[in-house]
Amino acid sequence: MKFKDMPYERPDIEVLERKIDELIKKQQDAKSGEEQFEINKEYYTLRKDFETAYNIAYIRHDADSTDELYEKENDYFDEILPRWSNACIKYSRALFDSPYRAYLEEKLGPVTFKNMELDDKSISEEILPLMQEENALTSRYDKIIATAKIEFEGETYNLSLMGPFARNKDRNIRKKANKAISDWFMGVTDEIDEIYDSLVKNRTAQAKALGFESFTDLAYCRMHRNSYDKANVENFRKQIKEYFVPFVAELAEKRAKRLGLDKLADTEIGVYFKDGNPAPVGSPEEILRSGQEMYSDLSAETKEYMDFMMENELFDVFGRKNKAAGGYQTYIPNYESPFIFANFNGTSGDIDVITHECGHGFQCFITRKDEILDHNNLGMETAEIHSMSMEYFTYGWMKNFFGDRYKDYLEMHLEDACTFLPYGTMVDEFQHIVYDNPEMTPVERKETWKKLEQEYRPYIDFEDTEFFALGGFWQKQTHIFDVPFYYIDYVLASICAMQFKIKMDDNFKAAWEKYLELCKLSGSDYYTNMIKKVGLNSPFEDGVVVEIVEKLAKKVI
Ligand SMILES: [Zn+2]
Repeated sequence: MKFKDMPYERPDIEVLERKIDELIKKQQDAKSGEEQFEINKEYYTLRKDFETAYNIAYIRHDADSTDELYEKENDYFDEILPRWSNACIKYSRALFDSPYRAYLEEKLGPVTFKNMELDDKSISEEILPLMQEENALTSRYDKIIATAKIEFEGETYNLSLMGPFARNKDRNIRKKANKAISDWFMGVTDEIDEIYDSLVKNRTAQAKALGFESFTDLAYCRMHRNSYDKANVENFRKQIKEYFVPFVAELAEKRAKRLGLDKLADTEIGVYFKDGNPAPVGSPEEILRSGQEMYSDLSAETKEYMDFMMENELFDVFGRKNKAAGGYQTYIPNYESPFIFANFNGTSGDIDVITHECGHGFQCFITRKDEILDHNNLGMETAEIHSMSMEYFTYGWMKNFFGDRYKDYLEMHLEDACTFLPYGTMVDEFQHIVYDNPEMTPVERKETWKKLEQEYRPYIDFEDTEFFALGGFWQKQTHIFDVPFYYIDYVLASICAMQFKIKMDDNFKAAWEKYLELCKLSGSDYYTNMIKKVGLNSPFEDGVVVEIVEKLAKKVI
């Protein structure tokens, strides 16, 4: 069904809560695992109905912020979501305590039960007021960032519109843009410091109330980190520091030369070529059409997927007035439809939508018939492998998007992917230090960041831009505020996607088959098991990172 024809009906939370209570009762009265498994299907139906309505309302609200109906629906969902998740957790508890657990684990998978256990540890009635306060604090930060008004060359811009100036091919424009961004942050940094300080204290209090030693442990539960722990991540960071940092430093030196500079400064972040980064050549319509041709060529599965997406009008990617900013992929279960939302703006970011977001959508599409809904509950370190690997699998078609400059694009893409790893790891280490030391002052936090910059990005000079020189860069990184500890996931996934890149250069077809296998596994097993099943090495094993660096170095240096 075309997206525009999908009917919408508001779910009634009172009715839903009642139905969940009835299902809990039925589960408690059930006489066998088989019976419980059948009742669980009714629960899945409720969840699918809810997610379908929620996603339709959410997308339609983003598609037109002036639509009053969906504005109201969006507010309604904001209000009822905590009640809905509470009801679902209550239901999970009933299943978790089942006397037929062994049978259910076999049918639903052990990960389902492990995640239930983690959810159960992460919440209690007692901390609800703290959670509400936490939401209010993150909303305050989001609002400051979203409503930024930056004066630049006689006009006013928000932070995302400043992006193209900060990456302009003219270094003077970049310098001026960075100064304007820095000046704006200097005006709000005290308030952001105060918000973050309250967030750290609030989150620490939540953790203590739940019996955790620090917020880090609670965050690992909330992120469903069910197959690796803090020690694994720490060892992984060590490997990135030891092997990726010097590798990226070499890449930076090469890039500085290409740009005609002695050393990179913050003005060169995201800038790869003297005459500007490569941009796609066609109109937005042509980009989509080229995308369809590309996926037709790539494999029978991707052809079926992309034809389905186009036929059912499941892309809303052209820029339009009254459309929300940003981009994402989501899934509408009752219509087995992925949906991709974005705002094409003529930069290489438009192609990322066609490769990265389509990678997420493809994974949802090929697992659409999986009857176990919990398998869709993917950890981000797994989900990002699907999308990041697709960026590499589509390398062979980039000529269709970038014309003469496709080689520049490929060079930029691989360099950018490598350059991200030290930064992503630094964001993770920063948060570990912050939550291990919740009494740190705002000045100490900025000093910590500055020190980390020296360890992870010594090849970038931040001294000329006041706010960055102070150690304030992290205040631009919304994840640190909104979704704490969600970041190393990108780095872990990237290490797996890079392994696919190395494999496909050797044997494209064999690598694609393994990738397909991984997509099909969805979230049916633990991250560390699934990657092993498809022949990838675990990023946590010593020697894996250095091997990737050695192989990539041959391609890019
Ligand atoms: Zn993604």
